[in-house]
Amino acid sequence: MEFGFTKEQEKLRKDARDYFLSETPEDFEPGVETMFSLTKEQTEFWMAFQKKAGEKGYLTPGWSKETGGLGLGPIEQGIVEEEWGRTGGRWPNFSGLHIAGPAVQVFGTEEQKKKFLPGIANGEAVWNQAFTEPEAGSDEANQQLRAVEDGDHYVLNGQKTFITTYVKPDYLYTLARTADTEPKHRGISLFLVPGDAPGITYRALGSMGFGTQVDIFYDNVKVPKENLLGELNRGFYHAMSAFEFERSGTGGPAFSRRSLEEFVQFCKETERNGKPLIEDLEVRRSLAQMAIDIEVQKLIAWQAVWWFSEKEKLGPKPYDLSGFFNKIFSTRHPEIMMDIMGLYGQLRTGSKWAKFAGKVERRWQIARSVHPAGTLEVNKIVLAGRGLGLPRVPAKFNKQIAKALEEKK
Ligand SMILES: Cc1cc2nc3c(=O)[nH]c(=O)nc-3n(C[C@H](O)[C@H](O)[C@H](O)COP(=O)(O)OP(=O)(O)OC[C@H]3O[C@@H](n4cnc5c(N)ncnc54)[C@H](O)[C@@H]3O)c2cc1C
Repeated sequence: MEFGFTKEQEKLRKDARDYFLSETPEDFEPGVETMFSLTKEQTEFWMAFQKKAGEKGYLTPGWSKETGGLGLGPIEQGIVEEEWGRTGGRWPNFSGLHIAGPAVQVFGTEEQKKKFLPGIANGEAVWNQAFTEPEAGSDEANQQLRAVEDGDHYVLNGQKTFITTYVKPDYLYTLARTADTEPKHRGISLFLVPGDAPGITYRALGSMGFGTQVDIFYDNVKVPKENLLGELNRGFYHAMSAFEFERSGTGGPAFSRRSLEEFVQFCKETERNGKPLIEDLEVRRSLAQMAIDIEVQKLIAWQAVWWFSEKEKLGPKPYDLSGFFNKIFSTRHPEIMMDIMGLYGQLRTGSKWAKFAGKVERRWQIARSVHPAGTLEVNKIVLAGRGLGLPRVPAKFNKQIAKALEEKK
């Protein structure tokens, strides 16, 4: 059996790679400079780059031409994402491209598709995913932000927290409670809320990891009824199926591969006790293990893309492991690299003595935040149920866990 791409797909890969390499600034140091610690000029640069890539169709090559894509398939989308991932860049509209956009594709009305998708495809719009609340993280069904019907619109009141943002968003893909039901997840709906709607305020939060997170307050925010996404009170189910798009992706492993290649080079050039690090057997074993991990992660990501391209025949994928591996390896690999570097591994970018541009310390920090799209523990619960068909955890245990968490606070 031979795995491979068609000639056209290989050409698309080369074109995308050449384009991203020629457009990415030479002094961009992936893994150090995150999208979110940028100056105003850099922010403007990445927004302009996103728009240029959108004009070429490189943000959404797999979307139909009517919705702003190139009319290609999931495999081509995976190829372009892999090339973009290798650069280490992150589009300002990550949440729109990977979460809200695909959800509108699946659950949106024709009017919603016409109104919202072209702005995502052409790189003009920025979306945030506004799901998490102070009392609704892993327990997503515990949404308290309330949407009440009032004539031709809904009125939203409540708070979101930990929402990753980049520039002030044009839209908030918002989960809200629309009915008091038992079980709780049957009374939740999805709304497409303009980010500058009267009554919305933002408050910055500090975080050890990537990006900037904000609290978002909704104070009597009026949202037209036509901005309800999918069915009323089915928002939880819609959101859960759209999570699969967030978890999977070919970009993550491509960036890990690039980082490993750079780190191997560092080990060739750096000596300890008069010998290059690369000659140390333990270092070689660790590097080989990381290469195996990344190859596994890449194949799993591609298997998900392939499954998606065959979804008419195969149906929805029961569980996608790529996000799971991403969480495991993005935590484990910086720790291994730190071990190899010794105390130098703890030095930050900018420190006089930092080696490898302080990238390992930065990655270690980022790896403290593997919470988005569900924590590792929650991902394991989903894997156990959907992936392995194990029985659900009895509700009484969930209550015990919730109680233990409450006591910890
Ligand atoms: C950097 C960063 C970016 C984020 N970006 C966004 C965003 O853009 N939009 C958004 O909506 N949210 C975002 N989040 C929020 C993220 O989705 C939540 O942090 C996550 O769902 C976990 O919720 P929590 O923080 O309330 O933790 P909790 O749910 O309070 O969990 C605390 C701990 O208990 C464990 N735990 C909880 N329940 C169980 C259980 N049943 N069994 C076993 N263990 C359990 C968890 O694994 C975790 O370790 C972001 C978070 C971070 C850190």
